Amino acid sequence: MKKKNKEEILFSVDENKFREALRAFLEREDAKKVEQEIYERDFYPRELYGKLGEEGFLAPVLPIEYGGRGKLVYEAIVAEELGAACVPLAWIHSTSSYAYATIARYGSEEQKSRYLPALKRGAKIGAIAITEPEAGSDVMRINTRAEQKGDAYVITGEKRNITNGSQADVLLIWTITNPEVDPVEGMSVFIVERGSEEGFEVIEDYKLLGGFPGTVNSHLRFDEMRVPAENMLGGANKGARILFDELSVERLLYAAMLVGEARPVLELAVGYSMEREQFGTSISRFEGISFKIADMVTRLEAAKLMVYHTTRLIDTGFDAEKESAMSKLIASEAFYEVAHNTVQILGGRGLSDEYPAEWAFRMARLSMIPAGTNEIMRFIVQREVYKEFKGKKRNI
Ligand SMILES: Cc1cc2nc3c(=O)[nH]c(=O)nc-3n(C[C@H](O)[C@H](O)[C@H](O)COP(=O)(O)OP(=O)(O)OC[C@H]3O[C@@H](n4cnc5c(N)ncnc54)[C@H](O)[C@@H]3O)c2cc1C
Repeated sequence: MKKKNKEEILFSVDENKFREALRAFLEREDAKKVEQEIYERDFYPRELYGKLGEEGFLAPVLPIEYGGRGKLVYEAIVAEELGAACVPLAWIHSTSSYAYATIARYGSEEQKSRYLPALKRGAKIGAIAITEPEAGSDVMRINTRAEQKGDAYVITGEKRNITNGSQADVLLIWTITNPEVDPVEGMSVFIVERGSEEGFEVIEDYKLLGGFPGTVNSHLRFDEMRVPAENMLGGANKGARILFDELSVERLLYAAMLVGEARPVLELAVGYSMEREQFGTSISRFEGISFKIADMVTRLEAAKLMVYHTTRLIDTGFDAEKESAMSKLIASEAFYEVAHNTVQILGGRGLSDEYPAEWAFRMARLSMIPAGTNEIMRFIVQREVYKEFKGKKRNI
């Protein structure tokens, strides 16, 4: 019997074919070189994102009738491979994918046929607008108001730290539609198309960690922005339920992207440690170095397995809130360990821009805050564990 490799055990034939085709496309397009050019010239890789769509690699999570494959595992493969090949491209995909996955899940047929095809082609880019100046971790404190006036809602408020914010064509905006009740009962989501709405203002695009080339992170203001009532997603005051689902998918896909981002950094550390000689031998022969490599590989492999285990749970219909939080936690901390140790293994070169190690270190540090901070991930995990114990479901 032919010996199987690990990928053949973990993934179906079709999933592996999809990954291989995507890798081949990214190699053909020289995505690593594009990444390098972005770091040098800071441009937004919208054109390459469009090509990904034209070649059919975007939105595999969509149902088959919308040209997708109906499973989140394909979307996680996209996030991972883009993370490994070109970080800014992976970031465009990130919130765009959270937006189309949410419209696919909660949209009416009219909304799905109106928004999904262009998002799938990469002709349009999506964004998710939840965070506000006064509501970060405490998402239930959002203050953006949507008031019904005739056949429209009038939206007023601010959102900050929105990935793709100033560039997105289609934004999902979380608002309060009934301020008289608990936000869980009074929150609604709107699909907002750029270009058609007055009162949409970009206050600024932030410079994160001294610059995050090729990506956009925006502070937005809505000043009495009128949105047709038909753009409400999933029904009036259903926003909190949509938010919890969205965050589970977001954390999982975000974690997949980080697993991908860490991969070339680990390869750099292994390759460099084999070539660099000190004290008359390769530094890989010092346990101070090779044991770091052992820890990095172990952590990253554990993170990858957690990500795909969670993906399978969600694809099978489980509410994997705890596992999504665990995935984001372990993937961001694995990436941080990989990047931190890579800088150390490269010595002085690790701190210069001769190698992408210092850049990866900044990215890894950044990765612990979006999609809910790691403190909030730990909060979710412990809350779910205690709930399970109280319910006597002791299958942690
Ligand atoms: C690169 C990037 C991209 C982002 N993209 C988006 C996006 O596309 N859409 C969007 O809506 N948002 C986005 N965000 C916002 C992100 O989700 C928030 O920054 C995050 O949820 C934390 O909110 P905050 O920054 O207001 O920090 P705060 O909530 O003010 O937290 C400050 C500190 O207090 C800690 N803390 C807060 N509450 C607790 C608690 N209960 N227990 C223990 N510690 C606690 C936090 O962990 C943190 O260390 C992005 C952020 C970044 C950095």
